[in-house]
Amino acid sequence: MSRVRVRVNVTGIVQGVGFRPFIYRTAVQLGLTGYVRNRGDAGVEILVEGRGSAIRKLLTDMKSRKPPLARIDRILSSKVEGKNEYRSFIVEKSSGEREISGSIIPPDIAICNDCLKELRDPEDRRFEYFFITCTNCGPRFTIIDRLPYDRDNTTMDEFPMCDFCEEEYRDPTNRRFHAQTIACPKCGPKVWLADKEGNIVESKDPIREAGKLLSESNILAIKGYGGFHIATSTTEDQPLVKLREVKHRSQKPFAIMARSINAVKTFAEVNRNETDLLCSYSRPIVLLDKRRDYYLSEMVAPGLHNVGVMLPYTGLHYMLFDRTDDTAFVMTSANPPNQPIVKDNLEAQETLGRTVDYFLFHNRRIIHRGDDSVLRAHGDRPVFLRRSRGYAPIPIMLKEKAEKCVLALGGELNNTACVLNENKAFISQHIGDVENVETRTFLEEASNHLIRLTNSKVGTVACDLHPKFTTTTLARGLAEKNDWELIQVQHHYAHAVALMTEHDAEEMICVCCDGYGYGPNGEAWGGEILLCNRKVFGYERIAHLEEQPLIGGDLATRYPLRMAAGMLNGKTPVAEWLLANKKHFPHADLEVETLLKQLKNPADFTRTTSCGRVLDAVSAVLGLCFERTYEGEPSMKLESAATRGKDVLRLKPMIRGQSLHTAPMLEEIYSNKDKFSVEDLAKSAHAYLARGLATMAIEEAAGANVKTIGFSGGVAFNIIMAKIMRKMVEDAGLLFLVHEAVPAGDGGLSFGQAAASAFSKLDA
Ligand SMILES: [Zn+2]
Ligand SMILES: [Zn+2]
Repeated sequence: MSRVRVRVNVTGIVQGVGFRPFIYRTAVQLGLTGYVRNRGDAGVEILVEGRGSAIRKLLTDMKSRKPPLARIDRILSSKVEGKNEYRSFIVEKSSGEREISGSIIPPDIAICNDCLKELRDPEDRRFEYFFITCTNCGPRFTIIDRLPYDRDNTTMDEFPMCDFCEEEYRDPTNRRFHAQTIACPKCGPKVWLADKEGNIVESKDPIREAGKLLSESNILAIKGYGGFHIATSTTEDQPLVKLREVKHRSQKPFAIMARSINAVKTFAEVNRNETDLLCSYSRPIVLLDKRRDYYLSEMVAPGLHNVGVMLPYTGLHYMLFDRTDDTAFVMTSANPPNQPIVKDNLEAQETLGRTVDYFLFHNRRIIHRGDDSVLRAHGDRPVFLRRSRGYAPIPIMLKEKAEKCVLALGGELNNTACVLNENKAFISQHIGDVENVETRTFLEEASNHLIRLTNSKVGTVACDLHPKFTTTTLARGLAEKNDWELIQVQHHYAHAVALMTEHDAEEMICVCCDGYGYGPNGEAWGGEILLCNRKVFGYERIAHLEEQPLIGGDLATRYPLRMAAGMLNGKTPVAEWLLANKKHFPHADLEVETLLKQLKNPADFTRTTSCGRVLDAVSAVLGLCFERTYEGEPSMKLESAATRGKDVLRLKPMIRGQSLHTAPMLEEIYSNKDKFSVEDLAKSAHAYLARGLATMAIEEAAGANVKTIGFSGGVAFNIIMAKIMRKMVEDAGLLFLVHEAVPAGDGGLSFGQAAASAFSKLDA
């Protein structure tokens, strides 16, 4: 029997993702000897000795049966001269392993099919064990305290393995060989039901009892991998009304968890790509169009054409549905207003006791909070609205290595942090709106953890231009304390760089549209077309939307009728119209009176080029939304209406110099209110803005000889606008790019700030 020796080098994402135990297990099963070890460059080296056929099998298994998180970019194998030396197969630990910079920490992974089968198998030791996991699934990021990823360094250290688990843990042929989260009913975390005061409710089967309580219209706080969810029925109005009252969320959509993919199909439209996303190991919330015969309560996602749905991702979630007929339960992050998701039992009892009827607790600690991720499919492309559980902190791999190691702190709303280390950009989980001490602390902790877990030697800190953002103050403090370089990056420029870096584009004309970003001289920007080159720090602002007055400052954002009044001022009989709509103002007559006085001197007010505010104004004129109770509400409701509409007005973009006029469009919408449906007018407004922006971008591209046009910022979540712009740009023979790896909104800002600081040369 001829024995050969082969050396294999594997590159990709192969460290910290269970790749070595997998190679070990496979090699041992195939009767091979040799070693596997991590290389300093983030690759893995394997030396195998044995029969040629067995080695070939190892190479094919490496690709087809690799752990879910591993990504193989290249396998290089070569025969090695000499006799076989090894008597067994070993995992060689490199001495400096924990010092390796840029180590990859796996994200939390949904329960795998093998574990799901065992969960349902009465013969299995882990039958009905709610936290059943293996090397291929289970929590990771949310329970890892420090590296290396060993049980002692996770919150599983409080649960010593029983003999049975230990045996499996040590058996290289077992699926749970070195599975750090291995546990069973005897030795693992326990679950219990409690009333709203936290008193234990005796139950033999607390999880299914909780499911029954949900089905009976109770509100429960349920502890999961990365924090608590608030859960309740999706068909009964009464608990939803109560939940909206106590959470002060009159309109904001709630995410739901459906029992199965077939259950989803009974109330939402799901295509192939959406099914793949829903079922992926990341199990994100996916925004799906409601079916025509949608039967869930209107209180789940009021006024919207879509609903955020996810599938169960732990054994516990699956078991919740066992004794109910419900197709879905509401499963929304449990967080007090403007605070991060609740993660500790005591904290939950203190902050959620007034909201819920019961708690479903477990006793494993959560180290890092992790909100659910949210995606939407644009055609066959997935688009992140929020990149968090199941994705963070897997790095975005870049083509180029950065010389600087950068920490970027993002903006203010929907924030994330980013650590850029060589060719890896580690983006944190969703942090939220950094406006108060709790979220600021969360941002600091998340940044520190990211730096520590990736062994990064940060020398630069990046933040927004806004002088009053909490993140700017934090960045200044860090720069001073650590003697780091401080780089401030303009908001829309950061969006553009994020998009360019993601696609490795050198030059781009980027349409950056959102609600608000601080301009270079303090202007309120939000409808910008920027020309950028990735090598040079800075941008040229080549066009923008017409400036419109923000009558009443921030009030114009909260009450979009004010925005509309400012835009229509002097052209339509605004006074009568406002008086007719006075019930939509909190102070009715008095407020309208003041507003009319203010309209006489619109020059007194800050002006904005924001695209979001224009969409808001249209939404108010069409009667779709008079008060913004959550970020993006007026424009989201406008988009929902437009999905069923036609572009009946076919307005020609009015471009004067470098500005797309928006007031004439609103006047047309206003004066055609009685002639066309709300849906058709909503669509016409979208078409006007998209066509106008694309026209300006295409003209500038020709002038500047740039071949790529991008679309970024929160408005880029809007499928209708993205579609119209894509068609025009591609018809003009240019490349159209949108985000695929990071959110187009402010969740992607930290990534753009980091990339701009690391790769673009600052002017000498
Ligand atoms: Zn598993
Ligand atoms: Zn056990």
